[in-house]
Amino acid sequence: MKIAELYNRKTTLSFEIFPPKKDSELKNIDATLEILCELKPDFISVTFGAGGSANCNRTIEVARKIKQKYHVEPVVHLTCLSYSKGEIDEFTRILKSEGIDNILALRGDRNPEVLEKDDFHHASDLIAYLRENGDFCILGACYPECHPESESRISEMRHLKQKTDAGAEVLISQLFFDNQYFYRMAEDCRIAGIDVPVIPGIMPVINAAQIKRMITMCGASFPERFEKIICKYENRKEALFDAGMSYALSQIIDLLTSDISGIHLYTMNNPVVAGRICEGIRNII
Ligand code: FAD
Repeated sequence: MKIAELYNRKTTLSFEIFPPKKDSELKNIDATLEILCELKPDFISVTFGAGGSANCNRTIEVARKIKQKYHVEPVVHLTCLSYSKGEIDEFTRILKSEGIDNILALRGDRNPEVLEKDDFHHASDLIAYLRENGDFCILGACYPECHPESESRISEMRHLKQKTDAGAEVLISQLFFDNQYFYRMAEDCRIAGIDVPVIPGIMPVINAAQIKRMITMCGASFPERFEKIICKYENRKEALFDAGMSYALSQIIDLLTSDISGIHLYTMNNPVVAGRICEGIRNII
């Protein structure tokens, strides 16, 4: 099923997971998936490690499990900087043979250790290529606080519009902790004539070290209210968990009452986190 069709009918709840780093850990993912899938998300997206066929294989393997064993729709992430058109063709051929219809098409982060090839320079190149050469529902990424490499909000929107013009039917956002950034970006999208569903990505805090790492990597800012939580509870694991959950729930409820099309939860493969969020919005979404 192509997940863009869902947005005509309902407000969606989706999860993001990452494949295990080692093949030997593939079995353990079942325990996580079992609980996540019982929560009945509309889809689960599986991240893609940049470079190397082992990474792609694990992404496909987990997506296959999600579809065939748990009967939930998978979305496969796919980056393009380090791949040729031929390699992308091979990847999409496998996806089709597995009955996987949805791809989150990304450029990928630049990594000096991974060779970049010449076929794709931006996510919009990959999106256009997938649109011309396959029958997939294509999703793209967007950034409430702008991508770290962007010159301005205007150039960011110009490039985002290129993605939707090239064929992205849904946009999923980078994590953020201040909803005002998301609302501002959604408004920018309307002004730029981007009229596909724009889905906020929410990451509940589960531990302070991890969140600080994410912030350095993705550039999301801490609002004061959120910083106070980290400062007060960073050394009290259970308290941080409770306060972080409440914070994420308050973000989600604010978004849901502002007529967004869905919520995408960065689960960090933690089913307890996903379960707590689902419990908190069971009668709302
Ligand atoms: P692009 O859309 O190509 O944008 C990157 C930068 O280039 C932006 O600054 C943009 O403004 C600029 N740009 C775009 N088009 C042009 C143009 N034509 N000319 C000049 N500049 C341009 N990474 C992974 O490795 N694996 C994953 O699974 C993964 N999943 C993600 C999921 C989500 C929801 C998000 C938000 C990010 C994810 N990422 C993942 C991270 C992502 O790969 C990085 O943020 C990467 O740096 C940019 O990818 P993009 O697809 O947004 O790139």
